[in-house]
Amino acid sequence: MSRVASVLQAALLLFSTHLSAAVAIDGAAIAASDQGGDWLAYGRSYSEQRFSPLKQINDGNVDRLRLDWYLEMPDSRALNSTPLVVNGVMYFTASQSVVMAVDAASGALLWRYDPEVITRLANRKHMRFNWGANRGLAFWKGRVYVATFDGRLIALEAATGKEAWSVQTFPLDETRYITGAPRAFNDLVIIGHGGAEAGAVRGYVTAYDTATGEQKWRTYTVPGKPADGFESPALKEAAGSWRGEWWKHGGGGTVWNAITYDPLYNRVYLGTGNGAPWNQQVRSPGGGDNLFLCSILALDADTGEYAWHYQTTPGENWDYNSAMDIVLADLEWDGKPRHVLMHAPKNGFFYVVDREDGRLLGAEKFGKVTWAERVDMKTGRPVETPEARATDGVSVIYPGFLGAHNWQPMSYNPDTGLVYIPYQEMAAEYDKRGIDSERWRAEDFQMNTGFQPYRGDITPDDVSSALLAWDPRRQKPAWKVDLPGFQNGGTVTSAGNLVFQGTSSGYIHGYRADTGRLVWSFDAGVGIVAPPISYAVNDKQYIAVLAGWGGASYIGSTAMAQHGWAYGAHPRRLLVFSLEGKAEPPPTVAPQTELLIVDNSEQVIDTAQASAGQDLYLPRCLGCHGVAAVSAGGAPDLRASAAAADLDAFGTVLRSGQLQARGMPLFDELSDREVEQIYWYIRQRARESL
Ligand code: CA
Repeated sequence: MSRVASVLQAALLLFSTHLSAAVAIDGAAIAASDQGGDWLAYGRSYSEQRFSPLKQINDGNVDRLRLDWYLEMPDSRALNSTPLVVNGVMYFTASQSVVMAVDAASGALLWRYDPEVITRLANRKHMRFNWGANRGLAFWKGRVYVATFDGRLIALEAATGKEAWSVQTFPLDETRYITGAPRAFNDLVIIGHGGAEAGAVRGYVTAYDTATGEQKWRTYTVPGKPADGFESPALKEAAGSWRGEWWKHGGGGTVWNAITYDPLYNRVYLGTGNGAPWNQQVRSPGGGDNLFLCSILALDADTGEYAWHYQTTPGENWDYNSAMDIVLADLEWDGKPRHVLMHAPKNGFFYVVDREDGRLLGAEKFGKVTWAERVDMKTGRPVETPEARATDGVSVIYPGFLGAHNWQPMSYNPDTGLVYIPYQEMAAEYDKRGIDSERWRAEDFQMNTGFQPYRGDITPDDVSSALLAWDPRRQKPAWKVDLPGFQNGGTVTSAGNLVFQGTSSGYIHGYRADTGRLVWSFDAGVGIVAPPISYAVNDKQYIAVLAGWGGASYIGSTAMAQHGWAYGAHPRRLLVFSLEGKAEPPPTVAPQTELLIVDNSEQVIDTAQASAGQDLYLPRCLGCHGVAAVSAGGAPDLRASAAAADLDAFGTVLRSGQLQARGMPLFDELSDREVEQIYWYIRQRARESL
């Protein structure tokens, strides 16, 4: 860094210190719909509408939108975060829970805080689920709050990035992890965790004192072992909806994404996760609703006590977590104004729920759904189709486990009355054959679903996606724009009659919010999954987005790899646009659509060993190296890896942990024979891919 730049940054730091001290960001500020150009919380305001009232950039002039500045992020891979903007400073998380503060008008770096997640997780199995994804931050009274993958909740001084306090929210011998953003309200900061596929996990959220980090309350989302007593009457009652010895599997219900604070009723709404494991015959043999899985769970914000719940998927069996964002709005319903929440979970139904008491007002399919015919509005329960639950065999169901909508946030525009949903369409196969539901047990940090792992590839023809504008009052689509690929970014909408979204194919598009007409595009040169934001500094409006392919797309397959965002090949950036932008767009690297497969044509593939190797590969490797050993950029494609083609080198990488600093976990439990079996599976896949 040049001397001039560091002097400039020191001056900016003093300036921001001054501003942060002058303006206390509290609940009244976050609740406000007009935040003076700022973006103060994950979903902008407590409503999580992701609606910007700014209209300097609008449908009449958006064709003049240009790159204003950008920040190269060479240390990052997956970028999923929603930036915050407070008093002219932008705060966001990069990969591996790193927090950055930059001047929101110039992009000058103010500070960077690295919680050193990979160092802390050295030799731990947590690395096997660590894509580096983190979705964002909370801001409260001069401090920024980040939750790290290894389970710390850390308070940082916004002015300096210095640690104020840090607490561990779960013991590191548990198979939990965090990718989500904390939320702050009433001098509390709340966080959940993920891990329902990683082991026998029982979900909870915890609220801490923002000043000290002291734990104030913790609420579990599913009942534990009855002999140990229940933490609340609500959990005691919930236990009646479970069968067998569910607690041995943890039950699941992790709150890994959606937490919405409602200042009107002083409640938090949790979007609870899927079962651990998915297969209900294993988890709760004999059925039952399995409360509070796949639910909106409303809690008193001061105490964490149960207020009400609405379960979107009773007896969940398909990974249909309700962890997708929960948006608050005032809607006219049956001629009466109502305070509602809106929710489009994985299961493919769009729900409108009265926040006062949790009563279901509307539930209609927003895409292809084959597990249920409809939701019965008298009972509030889905009417399942016969194919939804094969009792013994295979069912192929829409949506699949990645959902009709995933964590990528939707946005709501009160002017158009429309919700902009990143829609996606893919089936999944749920195969119970050969699963012994009595003896099945989770293995730490493997893919624990209670179903057979999927063995084939997923092709581009198997997936589709769209930007869907949904009318929540009429409960039907207003317009829809088909997009190539799968796993596009979250959305932002504005009073300028605009919607912006990044795509898996590497573009940022702007649309008219009322009609869906494409009015602006920018080639970002890398797939985007993060949601854009809009903010203003000195009366100048900006659109910002983190461009960095990563997240569940790393599960791979030919469908996810189709855009050619290969591991380590494409730059990660923060891109910021304005009507006065004059920055030269940085060079892009062509997508890598041709793969240089490594194969020795004289080598005879040992197919028996390869078959055994596939069984070892699937639960351990597919999360990063991909379904059918087709990488979508989360890690090197092993079919094109020289190291994977050399049995000795391959064994060393797996069992020495020598590449842990680059994200490759340690697999020291594998025997010589098992290493060789995985080696043969990769050799077979390489040969088949020629
Ligand atoms: Ca899940």
